[in-house]
Amino acid sequence: MGDPFAAFPRFRLAHLPTPLTEMLRLRAALGPSCPPLFIKRDDCTGLAGGGNKTRKLEFLVGEAIAEGCDTLVTTGALQSNHARQTAAAAVAAGLRATLVLADMVPYEGSTYRRSGNRLLDDILGADVKIIPQGADAGAFFKQVMAAIEAEGRKAYFTPAGGSTATGSLGYAAAYGEIADELSKRELPKARIVHASSSGGTQAGLIVGRLLRGEGPAVHGINVYRLDTDQMRADIAKLAGATAEKMGLPAPRADAVILEDGFVGPRYGVPTPEMVEAVELVARTDGILLDPVYTGKAMAGFLSLIKAGAFARDEALVFLHTGGMPGLFAYEDEFLTKV
Ligand SMILES: *Cc1c(COP(=O)(O)O)cnc(C)c1O
Repeated sequence: MGDPFAAFPRFRLAHLPTPLTEMLRLRAALGPSCPPLFIKRDDCTGLAGGGNKTRKLEFLVGEAIAEGCDTLVTTGALQSNHARQTAAAAVAAGLRATLVLADMVPYEGSTYRRSGNRLLDDILGADVKIIPQGADAGAFFKQVMAAIEAEGRKAYFTPAGGSTATGSLGYAAAYGEIADELSKRELPKARIVHASSSGGTQAGLIVGRLLRGEGPAVHGINVYRLDTDQMRADIAKLAGATAEKMGLPAPRADAVILEDGFVGPRYGVPTPEMVEAVELVARTDGILLDPVYTGKAMAGFLSLIKAGAFARDEALVFLHTGGMPGLFAYEDEFLTKV
């Protein structure tokens, strides 16, 4: 079989394959009933701090260039990893980036509005537009797009998280990378567990499994929406659109496994379980998670392991989707001695 992604324009940004390593010390800390634990290091994609958005941006930037666009436009929260990765991808591809950011997370940490990803956006030279409090976001957005056009530039827009069918191709391809590595290590029974938010990662992985016909199950942990049923339906829809792009039938609706109960009060608002999970993995394996996505997902993952939710002979692969710069925006949660 040839490369099933060859038909799609792609601008290489990621250092691939990312490492897949065992988390021996975390496993030991969890006790003898813990299944084999692995971590797929997509925090190490290499683009300005890395993370899962790099793989999506390879296809998004490829499409932007193919369409003759010169400006990447995206949106997200103030601490959006996708916005930071878009800023870096634009630089790497010789494009401009405009980031329309919403101050939408009810979190008042002392560095939230000035450090972490927000700081990196400025260093990367992105054109950052913050939606003013109380403003009509739609109207503000239209103004930004009109200004880009008035300068004679052509915008390529991606929604929050880069979660379009094109962006999801990055994780359809990543699935093959993970499955190949697991079969090389003779681990036929496995499960990929990851933080799910705008859904492109999960939709892509589901389509990757469809493409292969078999392989590790895909298990998302909702860190984003309060309505998990709606989120499942949205991911199924995005997976359907991604499958269609690849000439595949839509995946079955029950292909979307999405765990509820770990988002806490709201997206981006810290939970004690998140802080505990971030500190635990830092201190067992020297791996830094993030406060918004992977910390909450790891908290969910640990809680499911402790509840015996996974078979003992099933290799569990935690997909580290990145976000470490966000720790600096949440330092009040972690800094103990000043
Ligand atoms: C965006 C993001 C996710 C979620 O990926 P989606 O494709 O939006 O579901 C998970 N982890 C990190 C660190 C992210 O930045």
